[in-house]
Amino acid sequence: MRVIVFGGDGFCGWPTSLRLAANGHKILIADNLSRRGIDNELSSGSLTEIASIKDRIESAKKHIGDVDFVNIDVAKNPQGVQGLISNFKPDAIVQFAEQRAAPYSMIGDDERRYTVDNNISGTHNICSAIVAVDPNIHLVHLGTMGVYGYSKDFGDIPEGYLDVTINSTNANKSILYPANPGSIYHLTKCLDQLVFQFYNKNWNLKVTDLHQGIVWGVETEHTKLSPMLVNRFDYDGIYGTVLNRFISQAANDVPLSVYGEGGQSRAFIHISDTAKCVELAVTNTDFDTSRVRIFNQVSEVRSVLELATIIKDQYGAEIQFIKNPRKELPHNDLKVSNAGLKSLGFNPITLDNALVEDVRYIAESSKDKFNQSNVLSSPKW
Ligand code: NAD
Repeated sequence: MRVIVFGGDGFCGWPTSLRLAANGHKILIADNLSRRGIDNELSSGSLTEIASIKDRIESAKKHIGDVDFVNIDVAKNPQGVQGLISNFKPDAIVQFAEQRAAPYSMIGDDERRYTVDNNISGTHNICSAIVAVDPNIHLVHLGTMGVYGYSKDFGDIPEGYLDVTINSTNANKSILYPANPGSIYHLTKCLDQLVFQFYNKNWNLKVTDLHQGIVWGVETEHTKLSPMLVNRFDYDGIYGTVLNRFISQAANDVPLSVYGEGGQSRAFIHISDTAKCVELAVTNTDFDTSRVRIFNQVSEVRSVLELATIIKDQYGAEIQFIKNPRKELPHNDLKVSNAGLKSLGFNPITLDNALVEDVRYIAESSKDKFNQSNVLSSPKW
């Protein structure tokens, strides 16, 4: 298949692009490299040494398959996006290109507006360009589990839609699960969902929205093939996801910083599984397009304290409880369906299998770059 991967230079997009190319697909990565720019802005960055995009692409062509790159801002250049789609003629488009850190989106006015403008315009520009060029192109978008919120008001979390009975008529309906964002970033993912509902209703746009859990890990079988292909690994309080922060702390012999009492239960997925699930979504095209297809892209649910305890027990790290900088429930239960991707063959990697390897890798590669103050850099909200 021919696939455009918007945001293909990022943490999830890069290994996914490599996996798709390794499996014979023709890949065009479209990215404005803004994430590399934010590394400079925040004076933090990947613990791993990531190659320039030029070196990445050269190495991917040599070791993996058919991968090309174009530098484009999907939010600010709608004509360019349309031209790209017209010329490349993709069967599918994967949309990773959004500002993806909840803490970044909550720093202040500039970051709130940037996150909304960037994420909503970028995703809308892609939808609009698809219907202008060829409405048969399948759009696969990376959403987040955070769109559901973490309350138990509606019981276990289904895949996107909630079955309800309307009191006044007794009619049974399946409605989009009520959005309950916890940050400006999550708000943009909730708004993306409405964009998809409308484009699907009006133009029958074929969309798969993947509500992804928190991604952990760093390497995949493909990023290991050359130092030029290595994936980024964020560990700071703004872009580092919780388990990757703990892994970097354990690897550098500093206490694991648990927010509050660590009673927050969240859904997790390993980076290799991200790439596998996106491939499953891209290649399984035969589905009912009368509504947006929504999958929960998650492997398992754990509480933050449970994660910290696993790492403490395995690596002898200490746990330090710190005041939670975020406005969120201190404790919650979470049960999440991931039946959709499992029905397509998804067999999740759970925490224990790959963890040892990842910690060792980070311990080796991060000795000079790890800066403890970066881990505690989250803004308060
Ligand atoms: P990332 O920041 O590492 O990658 C995003 C990429 O998109 C970057 O390379 C960036 O340069 C690019 N980009 C951003 N805005 C752009 C624009 N306007 N034009 C062109 N390129 C642009 O993030 P990630 O962790 O790889 O996340 C990818 C997607 O997956 C995001 O949409 C995110 O919300 C979603 N997601 C990630 C996680 C996670 O834990 N990392 C969890 C759930 C969902």
